[in-house]
Amino acid sequence: MEKEHVKCLIIGGGPAGYTAAIYASRSGLSPVLYEGLQPGGQLTTTTDVENYPGFENGIDGQTLMSTMKAQAVRLGADIRTGMVSEADLSVRPFIVTVDGERQIEADALIIATGANAKYLGLPSEEKFKGMGVSACATCDGFFYRKKTVAVVGGGDTACEEATYLASICSKVYMIVRRDVLRASEAMQDRVRNTPNIEILWNCNTQEVLGDVSGVTGVRLVRKDGSVFDIPVDGFFLAIGHHPNSELFSRWVNVNPEGYIMTDGVSSRTNVDGVFAAGDVQDPHYRQAITAAASGCRAALDAEKFLISQNKI
Ligand code: NDP
Repeated sequence: MEKEHVKCLIIGGGPAGYTAAIYASRSGLSPVLYEGLQPGGQLTTTTDVENYPGFENGIDGQTLMSTMKAQAVRLGADIRTGMVSEADLSVRPFIVTVDGERQIEADALIIATGANAKYLGLPSEEKFKGMGVSACATCDGFFYRKKTVAVVGGGDTACEEATYLASICSKVYMIVRRDVLRASEAMQDRVRNTPNIEILWNCNTQEVLGDVSGVTGVRLVRKDGSVFDIPVDGFFLAIGHHPNSELFSRWVNVNPEGYIMTDGVSSRTNVDGVFAAGDVQDPHYRQAITAAASGCRAALDAEKFLISQNKI
């Protein structure tokens, strides 16, 4: 197996990882960053990003991320494509295996592997992914202009996505498994004040229905056991996210949902020299700007750590 030693290894090519790479490069840490199957992270699946400061008229997600990456590269970051397949954080330097064939020894490690949207796990949902099943209303809502869609979930994300979709679609069903919404009062108000949203309480999805053209409906089961179908053209999941922390959770502390726990406002994990940034450690804000900020923190924390170890 090929071996290599680096001062600062960053795993993850989203706003957190790229920002960490920008700061680490400027601090002379010669960072190596591995981005996985989705370079740019979740933002590359959105269209316009209107809330990232610095862009008066907004910017599309792809451009924002490719510009961030280019900035990191210009400053000296070594950005590579590869999936981390193993990590051993019990030794120093830490050992990280990429694609099962390359071993990187790192003096400091920044984990910025992000989070992925959760799915229900139904075979029919898997079958129609990209053909009417989506976990991102802002990315795909456009395709359902004047059509009927369903959103699963009762949290802030579900309410936000339902109200967004209601501005495009003729009708939006919210499929909620309890008789209450988990979302904040403000979000619930927005839903209540949107006439073309109908909430289906106490309902779970049994099957996504469809044919060669894609999704045509959803089969729901009520708490009392009754089963019924609703016709929809799109089926949106908004039931939370899953942090990509599995490879590291043997060593770093994670909360019950799997989010990596960091010390106070810092990016320090319980393992000295291992830092976490972005959505993998943030169940609350999950914004590009907050992820970028935590990437900055992680690089500054890594620099301080490396100085304390006389590595730079
Ligand atoms: P949440 O975990 O808050 O909500 C998930 C929702 O999905 C809940 O209603 C949950 O139901 C439901 N759910 C989970 N699993 C299933 C399942 N298998 N079948 C059916 N329903 C299911 O996730 P969110 O993504 O909504 O929010 C995450 C965090 O981000 C929160 O802290 C939220 O406040 C924040 N956020 C804030 C926003 C804002 O302020 N603008 C916008 C978006 C998110 P149940 O309630 O029964 O558990």
